[in-house]
Amino acid sequence: MTGEGVTFMDHKFQEIIKDLKTYLEYLKEMGIESLPSSDKGLGEPSQSEVLTLEEIRKELGDCKRCKLHRTRRTIVFGEGNNKAKLMIIGEGPGYDEDVQGRPFVGKAGQLLTKILQSISLQREEVYITNIVKCRPPQNRNPEPDEIQSCSPFLIKQIDVIRPKIICALGTFSAQTLLKTNTKITSLRGRIYEMAGMKVLPTYHPAYLLRNPDKKREVWEDMKQIAQQMKELD
Ligand code: URA
Repeated sequence: MTGEGVTFMDHKFQEIIKDLKTYLEYLKEMGIESLPSSDKGLGEPSQSEVLTLEEIRKELGDCKRCKLHRTRRTIVFGEGNNKAKLMIIGEGPGYDEDVQGRPFVGKAGQLLTKILQSISLQREEVYITNIVKCRPPQNRNPEPDEIQSCSPFLIKQIDVIRPKIICALGTFSAQTLLKTNTKITSLRGRIYEMAGMKVLPTYHPAYLLRNPDKKREVWEDMKQIAQQMKELD
């Protein structure tokens, strides 16, 4: 019993209901209005409903759901460990990614690899993807309709991987995941709860290439991620 006569179980139950509510609201805002029927709980789908990343990729197909398909060369779905504890979510593919079909392989990607190495993580240990899977022309910002078309696939990826921590890289990733218009400068460096996962926004590596003096803040953020991962072990 706690001081107010609420048992530990009551407290836990309330926490679960709260998490569930947040998760359902999150799905709704991401455009998912209904869930497949199941006699099991959320996050614990029946065997027949467990999607794999391959199945999600197959469902995405030769996607033409938004206008980005007209100018893209390749769909950049994502890559890495499908059981990763840490998921990295960037904004959208750039030129190199569009050519190679892999996320974060250009200059910003090389910096991301180094940033991960700074907390003793190899790229292969984490899962890396983007908010939108096709390159916006001239690397412009992804537009709301494009983000909305792509979001169901990102949610499915997150649902399959179920990372403990998501590192949101840059404004669009952080604002989309946290459903806010708050600036990245205010969002970064803090840990947010999202459907039982932790989200830590930080500056995008492309921004760091232009503003190397911000590397120190990203280093602070990465140390927080490393600490969280240690605690989760
Ligand atoms: N920038 C991103 O946001 N994602 C990539 O994959 C590459 C650059």
